[in-house]
Amino acid sequence: SAPRPAASSASGGAGSLDVAAVRAQFPLVAAGQQLKRPLAYLDNAATTHKPECVLSSQEYFYRCANANASRGVYSLAKTSTKLYEKARRMAAAFIGAADDEIIFTSGATAGLNLVAFSYGANRLAPGDEVAITMAEHHSNLLPWQAVAKLTGAKLVYLLPDEEGRISDEEIAEKVGPRTRIAAVAHVSNVLGSVQPVRRIADAVHAVGGVLVADCAQSVAHLPVDVSALGADFLAFSAHKMFGPLGTGVLYGRRELLEGMEPLLRGGGMIESVFEQDAAFALAPARFEAGTPNIAGAVGLAEAMRFMLELGYDAVRDHERHLLERLLSGLAAVPGVRVHGATRADGTFEDDEPLRCGVVSFNVSGVDANDVAAALARDNVAVRAGAHCAEPLVRFLGERATCRASLALYNTDEDVDRFLESVEGAKAAVA
Ligand code: PLP
Repeated sequence: SAPRPAASSASGGAGSLDVAAVRAQFPLVAAGQQLKRPLAYLDNAATTHKPECVLSSQEYFYRCANANASRGVYSLAKTSTKLYEKARRMAAAFIGAADDEIIFTSGATAGLNLVAFSYGANRLAPGDEVAITMAEHHSNLLPWQAVAKLTGAKLVYLLPDEEGRISDEEIAEKVGPRTRIAAVAHVSNVLGSVQPVRRIADAVHAVGGVLVADCAQSVAHLPVDVSALGADFLAFSAHKMFGPLGTGVLYGRRELLEGMEPLLRGGGMIESVFEQDAAFALAPARFEAGTPNIAGAVGLAEAMRFMLELGYDAVRDHERHLLERLLSGLAAVPGVRVHGATRADGTFEDDEPLRCGVVSFNVSGVDANDVAAALARDNVAVRAGAHCAEPLVRFLGERATCRASLALYNTDEDVDRFLESVEGAKAAVA
């Protein structure tokens, strides 16, 4: 195969990110470096590792403030409530929303289900259409499928082009007068393609519908702003952006939240309860039944602060550099087919990047699961399978793909180790 340029020094690549310093902040990434076969963690689309500041913020909460939020009047309870609401303000500022438009959830899946069942199920009627793309994660497909069955609405699929993007023609053809809801992943968890969310939003708004953005795969790589995207609802998970597991955010435009029934009912979300009836609190409390994951929200706010301090431009430059290396390296391995865009760069008319660092590929003659297993033996962590996106993987003509996904702490060395391992897996069957 073609020789690769020498790996850049400890900085790990181009851009202004001091990757060695960043890496040192992630205990598990740093520990992986000490192994005889250093760990190349390239499964960041599944979950990311956590920096020291996120870990210590959670520990701080449990050691110094552990009490239920929004309930007690004693000092610990007040501290806990303060930290929880401070996290909400941080999340609101992070995506350009108002504080009362932020609902803490257990993750993107919970947020998307909430929108589908609290909003969709009560708004859709027979003959209405829900537009989604063929590149959705099951979390943004199965809830709509269920709600469509419940209401008699129809799911309409926007198909990605060769580079994984939804074209203007596809939007014009599929988003029409019957479209009530368009629900779109900002970045595909299989192809890494960045979808033209704003243009889909404009199209659905023009016919009086709403736009639901699934930002689970974008928030660690691109700035996410509800106005820029034109989102009426927007969901993401903390754990894919260096925050804790079991925490996420659902944004809902205030006017829409006000008219919605809660999905879960229980403590902390009522105005008053009578024997046969109840009046619910306003959003966000209305949608946060039960004791919230306060430590999770605190950790998520810390992850957001961490991202903002590094700066999305620096992160993007670094990841683009790694992606170029990875894509050109894969292009040089005979028999490797990359799905979606095979160029790292290039923007569409709206200045959005073409893709992020999620790369799905197949090696001819080798099952994707066997490729992942061979890589695992080299301590290169990737994922194989249908990636919770079966319709898309079928659309690509595969049963499974192998997926490498980058994050800000990855280096040239990680990418090179991955490429050598893929070459080895290919050579083993040649
Ligand atoms: N949406 C996309 C695009 C994803 O990649 C994922 C997870 O992989 C989800 C939604 C669901 O996220 P979670 O499992 O954290 O709820």
